[in-house]
Amino acid sequence: GDILKNRKIAVLGSRSVGKSSLVIQFIENHFIESYYPTIESTFSKSINYKGVEYNCDIIDTAGQDEFSILNQKHAIGIHGYVLVYSVTSHKSFEIMRIIYDKIIEFTGQNAIPCVMVGAKMDLQQSKSRQVASQEGEEFAKSHHAAWIETSAKTNKNVAEVFQLVLGEIEKSTPNSKVA
Ligand code: GDP
Repeated sequence: GDILKNRKIAVLGSRSVGKSSLVIQFIENHFIESYYPTIESTFSKSINYKGVEYNCDIIDTAGQDEFSILNQKHAIGIHGYVLVYSVTSHKSFEIMRIIYDKIIEFTGQNAIPCVMVGAKMDLQQSKSRQVASQEGEEFAKSHHAAWIETSAKTNKNVAEVFQLVLGEIEKSTPNSKVA
């Protein structure tokens, strides 16, 4: 019979880095200029990864800052993390690193299934880029996380984020049928 594979994915990061835009582009295939910043929403979507359908709950959180205490529901029962910063804000990259450390501390793991996302890459032609690709990539690599840059505006690498996080989850639980 069919084994339903449920996966819970939390999207975390500083406010206005583009978390909602990324999720809405993925779920609804359009770009939103602004969304309700303080509201947390969960979206359900079936995602095919390597020929297997995963029933995914994607939790679009309201956003964190360096002082936020990690919400337990963002750590308990979560299979994988999408940690978002904006390539136009070095501060948001620093906050992502703090969030990463908090998840590690909370879970007691030394690594978590995670993709680090440099959002708003369509703005890279302007002088607004503050985080070099190399900086993001090297940080992710040194923490055994996947990394990608995206644009919700141009729909660049948006679906790839969710392929990567499912890949990271599978890597961490290679023999699990149901988790
Ligand atoms: P959140 O608070 O992290 O959920 O951020 P939002 O998704 O609400 O986005 C914050 C602002 O950045 C909004 O004005 C978005 O239109 C804008 N934004 C989000 N993603 C992109 C992107 O890929 N490119 C550009 N140019 N702007 C973006």
